Amino acid sequence: MLGRIIDQLLKKHWSQEEIDRYVGRYQKAYLTHATDASIRKQSASGGSTTALLINGLERGFFNGAVVCKTVIEEGKVRARFCIATTVEDILDARGSKYVETRFLREVLPLIRDFDGQVAVVGLPCDIAALRHRCSKEPALASKLVLTLALVCGHNSRTALIDAVTTRIKRETGADIAHYHFRLGHWRGWLEAELEDGRLVRKPSKVFNDYQNLFFFSERKCLACYDHYGYSSDLTLGDIWLFRLQADPIKHTAIIIRTQVGENFFDAGVCSDKLRATEIDIRDILDGQSRIGPSHYNVTARSKAGQWLGVKLPDPVGERVTWHAYINALMTISALRLSETGWGRRLIFAIPRPLLKFVLYIKKGLESFR
Ligand SMILES: Cc1cc2nc3c(=O)[nH]c(=O)nc-3n(C[C@H](O)[C@H](O)[C@H](O)COP(=O)(O)OP(=O)(O)OC[C@H]3O[C@@H](n4cnc5c(N)ncnc54)[C@H](O)[C@@H]3O)c2cc1C
Ligand code: SF4
Repeated sequence: MLGRIIDQLLKKHWSQEEIDRYVGRYQKAYLTHATDASIRKQSASGGSTTALLINGLERGFFNGAVVCKTVIEEGKVRARFCIATTVEDILDARGSKYVETRFLREVLPLIRDFDGQVAVVGLPCDIAALRHRCSKEPALASKLVLTLALVCGHNSRTALIDAVTTRIKRETGADIAHYHFRLGHWRGWLEAELEDGRLVRKPSKVFNDYQNLFFFSERKCLACYDHYGYSSDLTLGDIWLFRLQADPIKHTAIIIRTQVGENFFDAGVCSDKLRATEIDIRDILDGQSRIGPSHYNVTARSKAGQWLGVKLPDPVGERVTWHAYINALMTISALRLSETGWGRRLIFAIPRPLLKFVLYIKKGLESFR
């Protein structure tokens, strides 16, 4: 009840023009989750991505799914792509990996060498880049039957996860055998399985506070305005509505964009792999009301970048308010600070209450319209 009241109070007006601009073409929007609780257990939100991939594989929509796994390489947590051809492989790739990847470099050879058709999960920029390659390479295009984009605020460089895991190793005196960036309901927690079998859990803010302030952001994200994955068949993301906070089941928001996406989605619902309730696209935009518009506003970052030595093209020509401008200055300053040795030392020396204070200022700036 309280959640509904808060949602009503925070509800924003979204014009059709804004929906077209931020979301792009779409058909319908749904609030969903995997029916199978064991799938949801280690998923990023409602496990819908995993449930749909499993259904697609079992029903022969495709022969493999390009997924992203967490691996430990030389003691470091990294994200690597593979083609999952079994249910176990798909389950193994559950969860979001908030660390930079080499998408095209890894995925193109995988698909070219694969004997069969594939579905691909990826971030909006990577799905757009793959589509672009397919427009030039018919053999590649003929293998791609479905694309699923994850809603994306931005991604982080390896330095951030390395700092977090180094601290865990120092505190426990053990190496990490497996790592989960985020588990559990709402903001959840991060989890490291140690070589000696111990399990370490920490609140997700240990990573997220730095990430949300754009410390260690990838540079390409400054120039990106594709929050919802314009070129995908389906878009999947979290749904940050207060009325869902008390629901024991975490949900995934799904945006259906194409007929291919709709067929695949319907098959998941019909096979009872996915529970889905149709919602207004504005509910999804409300759940992303801070980060969505500020992500789109490359114009603000382009203008702020002129003062901070970062040249950015401006493909969107968005209005720049004073609060969008200050927010952009904070975003780029955080990234610039992460790029120097002294800056990195300073970032991790900032007392947590101060870090939180700055984060609230940033969130406040993002909330203005
Ligand atoms: C870097 C990043 C930023 C994100 N930012 C936002 C945001 O701002 N707002 C929001 O609503 N949602 C965001 N998401 C999406 C969200 O975290 C969930 O991925 C989404 O809700 C789907 O959840 P699920 O339970 O259906 O996925 P699961 O069933 O857990 O499946 C996740 C699938 O995504 C794939 N995957 C995970 N990480 C990556 C990666 N880095 N690159 C390519 N594929 C990957 C895995 O292979 C797996 O198949 C982000 C995800 C990532 C990776
Ligand atoms: S913000 Fe854009 S460029 Fe950055 S990882 Fe997400 S989709 Fe890619």
